[in-house]
Amino acid sequence: MTRVSSIPLLLAVCGAVCAVAAVPVQSKDLLIRNVTLYDGTGAAAQPNTDVLVKNGKIAQVSAGHIKARAAVIDGTDKFLMPGLIDSHIHLPGGQVGAVTAPGERKMTMDKATATKTLHGYLYSGVTSIYDSGNNTDFIFAMRADERAGKITAPRIFAGGGTISVPGGYASGASALKVADWDQAKADLDARFAYKPDMLKLILDRQGLFFNKAVPTFTPEAFKRVVDYAHANGVRATVHISAEWDAETAIAAGVDALAHPVMRSLANDEFVGLAAARKIPISTTIVVFNNIARVADDPGFFDEPLMAAVIEPAERERGKTSERQRYITSGMSPMFKLMVPYALDNIRRLHQAGAVLALGTDRAFGPAVHQELELLAKAGVPAFDCIQIATLNNAKYLGKEAEMGSVTPGKMADLLLLDADPAQDVKNFRAISAVIKDGQRIDLAALDLPVNHRK
Ligand SMILES: [Zn+2]
Repeated sequence: MTRVSSIPLLLAVCGAVCAVAAVPVQSKDLLIRNVTLYDGTGAAAQPNTDVLVKNGKIAQVSAGHIKARAAVIDGTDKFLMPGLIDSHIHLPGGQVGAVTAPGERKMTMDKATATKTLHGYLYSGVTSIYDSGNNTDFIFAMRADERAGKITAPRIFAGGGTISVPGGYASGASALKVADWDQAKADLDARFAYKPDMLKLILDRQGLFFNKAVPTFTPEAFKRVVDYAHANGVRATVHISAEWDAETAIAAGVDALAHPVMRSLANDEFVGLAAARKIPISTTIVVFNNIARVADDPGFFDEPLMAAVIEPAERERGKTSERQRYITSGMSPMFKLMVPYALDNIRRLHQAGAVLALGTDRAFGPAVHQELELLAKAGVPAFDCIQIATLNNAKYLGKEAEMGSVTPGKMADLLLLDADPAQDVKNFRAISAVIKDGQRIDLAALDLPVNHRK
């Protein structure tokens, strides 16, 4: 009684004193009852399972009936798995714009566009993303907003601008360009002050495909940056497209690959090395496939999930001016030749036991589902895709102790599906509920075209 009667007094005091303070989010415990669980570790389906979530963490997983005071979600005839993770995106909103003066470019800080895009990831069942290269100030500002709970978004992991060399591939205005080592060390120290989750380096003499050769790191300079990142407790991933660069990066101790080998069929020796080292490899076939596919079949821009989360004008741009740019630049025909090799490399890496980690190199949530369908096309079983899209991506980020599987003590980022994901990757689209940090996301409240139409 005393507690109840003290509430009006508390409110009165707070009304005067803390009118501007944010309302704390009430953390509610959650019980998902009688569900078929895929825990993300590669373990077989666990039918009739109860999963209890407390304070944003997985508290208990039981084949028996869990008794708890919690909001209940009936999981009968449904399938529970960890939330999807995309280990390779570039969040829109922080682009470096046109040259405004010689040597100067305008950097945008368009948080509204970024937030809408992040809503699209949640709507697609994605509860974590790694931004693999962006305007440094922009992406860490977005990450800070996410961590502070100011925006509704998947978990944001980021590295800031890519690390390249002057004149190298991906050495644009937002990149950190390594030349003189003392200067580079100072620049890296400044980057470490942002507490990056993982750096992304560039090791590619040709950028992508038909470009003229460009400068890149020497193996020694590359290793020096990786070693310096590790000395500062920061992981490093790397953009590669050729097998020889991937080998150099692995020899230098890089922690992950931001692409599979794409420039050619990989040799068995490389496939064996990647598998033996268990180095996580972001799959990223969809970026190339969509650019190849748009020339003949731009209709995928109108598939239901794309239409749900991407504005009509943006989809129209993809089908018209963007499509034309990809055709006239030669990218579409080039990638059309290349995708079958990338798919074959993926298949062989998977069969050899490599750690594939789902990534898209795109900037919209539905791309995750398109990537899943490409993995299936490569011959990866739908059941294996569950781990590839969850725990393996946590490994990519070095966060497998905290997230990526439905294991007691880990973060409660979950995806509830109406159809069995192990039967067909298309079933990953049958989204019933998305849970981040133990909180069910109100999908109908997201700022997306699907909700504006209602
Ligand atoms: Zn990328």
